[in-house]
Amino acid sequence: MTLNIRENVSLKPYNTLCLEVKARYLLLVEEAAMLQKALVWAKQKQLAISIIGGGSNLVLTKDLTGLVLLMRTKGIAIIAEQGTQVIVEAAAGVVWQDLVQWSVEQNLGGLENLSSIYGTVGAAPVQNIGAYGVEFKDVCYSVLALHRGTGQFHTFTADQCQFAYRDSVFKQQANQWIVVKVNLKLDRQAPINVSYAALQQNISEQSEPLTYAKVSQLVTNTRLQKLPNPEELANVGSFFKNPIVSLQKAQQLMRQYPDLVTYPYQNQQVKLAAGWLIDKAGLKGHREGQVGTYLKQALVLVNYGKATGSEILAFANKLQFIVNQKFGVLLELEPVVL
Ligand SMILES: Cc1cc2nc3c(=O)[nH]c(=O)nc-3n(C[C@H](O)[C@H](O)[C@H](O)COP(=O)(O)OP(=O)(O)OC[C@H]3O[C@@H](n4cnc5c(N)ncnc54)[C@H](O)[C@@H]3O)c2cc1C
Repeated sequence: MTLNIRENVSLKPYNTLCLEVKARYLLLVEEAAMLQKALVWAKQKQLAISIIGGGSNLVLTKDLTGLVLLMRTKGIAIIAEQGTQVIVEAAAGVVWQDLVQWSVEQNLGGLENLSSIYGTVGAAPVQNIGAYGVEFKDVCYSVLALHRGTGQFHTFTADQCQFAYRDSVFKQQANQWIVVKVNLKLDRQAPINVSYAALQQNISEQSEPLTYAKVSQLVTNTRLQKLPNPEELANVGSFFKNPIVSLQKAQQLMRQYPDLVTYPYQNQQVKLAAGWLIDKAGLKGHREGQVGTYLKQALVLVNYGKATGSEILAFANKLQFIVNQKFGVLLELEPVVL
């Protein structure tokens, strides 16, 4: 197998913030077997490797001087079944929404609340994607990854993935692992969870009884109301994580701001809504040049067309500063900066 490595390729079509940077070398990885060869090739040339899936959680600030692997491997299959439980294997390059769509068409429950999240299957464990009360960790059975240094494959059980809020071993050890496949545990009788307030608001009487497909549609419709489509307005979804603070800090803020939005979290801690903090600081829809916060959701930063990655980061830093000054809370970036 020869590797068709292209040179000096624009990454603009491959990142949803539409940032214009170039990859010195770029390889479309269509088969997992290409990965080990690519590692050897890059090692011989002493090149750094970057992995891009759908580019929907990336801020590209400069040209990438090494080899970029664009994950495009395909394949979804049921590999085991017991009772109502089903183990589904999906390749890293599969579009996440294609997997969700496939699962609801098979009447398999578990992924419906994660409908319409951008990007690829391989990136889902990296930041433990989550939405509407469900996270990747809730459906993860195992993850097959390739170690960049040794070129060896390793299977991580869900526990070994060290999943946390938008975090995992793959994010912590970012330059070590390439996710190749994931195995998910889905269930033909998984309970339906539409308890999230935003979903409740959109449930119409006609949508009963709820199926996984209907919940998936409900989630998609709810997301469309508040998130910009990157094809129309470049963005990477939430730009900041919801900050986690002590119960004491949350109570202090609540006394000052009775409408503070909070979510329960573990160990006497409270999760605050980052979008609410930015909005309350008067920055919803705020625009500076080519960058701004989205009019309907302050947590989303948008590129109006010609912004650079550095301009977007400078804008984000400004938001962090203002929010910290006003509330004493530090917002942490959600996307990966390359
Ligand atoms: C409109 C919009 C809404 C969004 N909503 C949500 C949401 O509700 N919840 C949520 O969690 N996220 C959300 N996101 C963020 C994004 O969709 C997820 O983080 C997604 O998992 C990123 O996938 P990707 O393939 O685009 O990853 P990329 O942006 O390509 O990469 C992200 C990181 O993962 C690494 N990576 C990618 N593939 C692999 C691999 N195979 N092996 C190892 N590392 C890899 C990259 O190197 C990079 O560090 C949203 C984004 C947008 C644009």
